Amino acid sequence: MLKTSGYAAPSARAPLQPFSFERRDVGPRDVLIDIRYCGICHSDLHQARDEWGGAAFPMVPGHEVVGVVAKIGKKVKKFRVGQAVGVGCFVDSCRKCHYCKMSEQQFCENHVSFTYNSTEQDRLTPTFGGYSKQMVVDENYVLRIPPGIPLQRAAPLLCAGITTYAPLRQWGVGKGTRLGVLGLGGLGHMAVKIGAALGAEVTVFSRSEEKKKDAKRLGAARFLVTANAKAFEDHQQYFETIIDTVSAKRPVDPYFELLKTDGTYILVGVPEHPLELKAMPLISRRRKLVGSLIGGIAQTQEMLNFCARKKLAADVEVIAMREVNAAYERLLKGDVRYRFVLDLATL
Ligand code: NAP
Ligand code: ZN
Ligand code: ZN
Repeated sequence: MLKTSGYAAPSARAPLQPFSFERRDVGPRDVLIDIRYCGICHSDLHQARDEWGGAAFPMVPGHEVVGVVAKIGKKVKKFRVGQAVGVGCFVDSCRKCHYCKMSEQQFCENHVSFTYNSTEQDRLTPTFGGYSKQMVVDENYVLRIPPGIPLQRAAPLLCAGITTYAPLRQWGVGKGTRLGVLGLGGLGHMAVKIGAALGAEVTVFSRSEEKKKDAKRLGAARFLVTANAKAFEDHQQYFETIIDTVSAKRPVDPYFELLKTDGTYILVGVPEHPLELKAMPLISRRRKLVGSLIGGIAQTQEMLNFCARKKLAADVEVIAMREVNAAYERLLKGDVRYRFVLDLATL
């Protein structure tokens, strides 16, 4: 086994703290990654505080991982030592089912080994995430970071990037369409950049005017404050697609009315508490409410290549490892522009 260190939540109510643990030895198809940066996703906070239930402790969060290949197993074909690589939300899956064969491993019918707060394919060995120095991952679950994207700005693409790219592609966001983005946080700001790069007219919905200037800089054509009732009246049946990235419970049906007939409401935010909604706004215009979960390996690579081609990356605030607990508090307040990224060199 390989000794490494990181930060872990010891329980749902305790702050994260330094933690020593072991990774498996590098197997024939494994890649050893020296982690350079890891993004802080709101899902890390939800899970470290057990807001979704079923959390396993100690928990080393982190699924927006970038680093450099330090060692490869004998049979590794896809990577070489020194290459910039990334790891997203899962590190293994059954590889045999319909969805694994389609490279949609996040929907594996047997067992997805999520990057942390989960287990390996044996369903016993816990997985530990990217708030750590090193990671050992099968080459089939590792992504190439294309040259041209600074590593710290690439990290959030591994979750925030793919989580927004996948449904925007799925639901036909592009030239001649109007996209609404709810919540301008980590996912929201990537939805704006990607939606604009796909050619859509993007409108941001945010709780205050604070982020208006940023929204425009990120590529939004328009900006609306969610408390502004008039804005809702003026935008009835305006959008083909809305993507909801909000991390907390609040009303969703007022936004359904902003969708055209057959419009699509994409829910990616996962609040702790159940959402409530009125049926009629959905039914009356055959609108769709759809969910979406991250994305598979093939599409994650496609997204990374797309971002490199379009010169897109996340807007980040790089922080030291010891600042992680303070960063969680700021994340809760919406005080982040637009993703915290941990610098593992500070560990
Ligand atoms: P984030 O950076 O904290 O952004 C969430 C945004 O939601 C905030 O910036 C804020 O935007 C808005 N918001 C927060 N609290 C609100 C409230 N009480 N009322 C209204 N708006 C509020 O979080 P994130 O990392 O982007 O993640 C967003 C959500 O997506 C989380 O629930 C996360 O777990 C989930 N997620 C899902 C997937 C998936 O595969 N489906 C993947 C990753 C993350 P404004 O300040 O602009 O109002
Ligand atoms: Zn995430
Ligand atoms: Zn499978």
